[in-house]
Amino acid sequence: MSSSHDVVVVGGGPGGYAAALYGAAAGLDIALVEKQKLGGTCLHVGCIPAKELLETAAVYRTVAHADQFGISAGPPTVDMGAAQTRKQKIVDQLHKGVGSLLEGRKVTVLDGWGAIGPDRSVSISGGESEAATVTADHVILATGSVPRSLPGFEVDGERVMTSDELLSVSELPGRAAVIGGGAIGLEFASLLADLGSEVTVLEALPRILMGADDDVVKMLTRAFKKRKIQVRTGVAVSGCRNTGSSVELEIDGGDPLEVDAVVVCVGRRPFTDGLGLDAAGVEVDEGGYVSVDQFCRTSLAGVYAVGDVVRTPQLAHVAFAEAIMAVKHLLGESPAPVDYANVPWAIYCHPEVAFVGHTEASAKEAGFDVVASAHRFIGNGRAMIVGETDGLVKVIAERSDDGPAGRILGVHMVGPWVTEQLGQGYLAVNWEATVPEVAEFVQPHPTMSELFGESVLSLTGRALH
Ligand code: FAD
Repeated sequence: MSSSHDVVVVGGGPGGYAAALYGAAAGLDIALVEKQKLGGTCLHVGCIPAKELLETAAVYRTVAHADQFGISAGPPTVDMGAAQTRKQKIVDQLHKGVGSLLEGRKVTVLDGWGAIGPDRSVSISGGESEAATVTADHVILATGSVPRSLPGFEVDGERVMTSDELLSVSELPGRAAVIGGGAIGLEFASLLADLGSEVTVLEALPRILMGADDDVVKMLTRAFKKRKIQVRTGVAVSGCRNTGSSVELEIDGGDPLEVDAVVVCVGRRPFTDGLGLDAAGVEVDEGGYVSVDQFCRTSLAGVYAVGDVVRTPQLAHVAFAEAIMAVKHLLGESPAPVDYANVPWAIYCHPEVAFVGHTEASAKEAGFDVVASAHRFIGNGRAMIVGETDGLVKVIAERSDDGPAGRILGVHMVGPWVTEQLGQGYLAVNWEATVPEVAEFVQPHPTMSELFGESVLSLTGRALH
């Protein structure tokens, strides 16, 4: 079988399905090749299942503290089987939804491995669709990423896991080590601790959560400590001995650590296995990422690459943005390149973290004359009502010549529901809004977003609270 389309997309995760849906909405004839399940990492072993299980943890916390609200519920227990069933139901529903959307837009979905060939052709094999070659005016590669492991760590899915396995556990480890203090590692540490595991986070770098402001990291570390999550930074794990009943971690220059399970969260590698990039002449960089320019064009004319397979922040919403930009570009429109320095970050540990733009330190390093203001949730009415007062909102701005503060350069938050509160900060930073402009905005009362308003107002030199 062979067919011809305007665009063929390889990979059906957020990057791939967004390219297909957006392209089809613009009237293009699209084929999409997927070797596993539509929705990719994000839907099946990433954002959605992780956040769903974190919600189980949040419910557990609420029930555990229900007596503070006058509700007697008794000590909660967790049924991981039931929790996994709920998670899977949501994943399945969304999976069906992606399929229906693609069908509705008349995207031809092909089940199998795609490999790029000459003249913008893609050969498909090994799936339910019969072997075929599809040609197109443009090809978009969106084959994503897979978890990295560490040398000496044999993933067995029980004692030694990556995120893929942890998201399907039916039993929780009594003692767990999480290797890696990035977003995924911290979410898992938080989840496991909430559900009763004794958790140690081991991070090789001197601090956790690169990219977040120091004040946010300090407050998060303190909150983790209160919950008895041990965060050890500057610790290099050099090996692991899986005895079958426990795992012993070797730590450079330190005592070994014995746990019941270890979750390796040391990042993800771009997945280009079997994609035929070499033969086709598509360049990759030294880390195996597909090399692209600011419009996600690869070295081969007519071929784009988006999402985790390129060296940009590995986030689903970045994949969406790149997909839309690539489609606009191939349509001959003039899209603005994605502004990677100012994309939003949301981490769903407890307390949550969300940020956009410069930290105070990075703004200074970039040469800005900086002013910053931080306000804590401890005095916020809504946070007190909810019973979650750990956290702060910090606004970083450029000092202005005719007043205390000018352009807003960054907004960094830690605390309750901050992943849902970052929107205003995102708009302010990306619209290059100034402190006096944003200070005019009225925040509804009583909300947690009042803290953002307050932090901005105080940069005018006249705070309310
Ligand atoms: P993927 O989602 O990896 O999809 C690639 C697809 O391509 C896969 O379906 C794969 O089967 C297919 N494929 C690969 N090779 C071929 C081939 N040769 N032929 C056909 N098909 C192929 N991001 C966020 O923004 N927010 C979050 O909260 C968040 N949480 C996360 C939590 C975890 C535990 C993990 C692991 C990731 C999380 N991410 C989060 C990151 C997010 O999942 C990824 O950035 C996103 O999935 C990348 O999308 P993608 O389309 O580039 O790749």
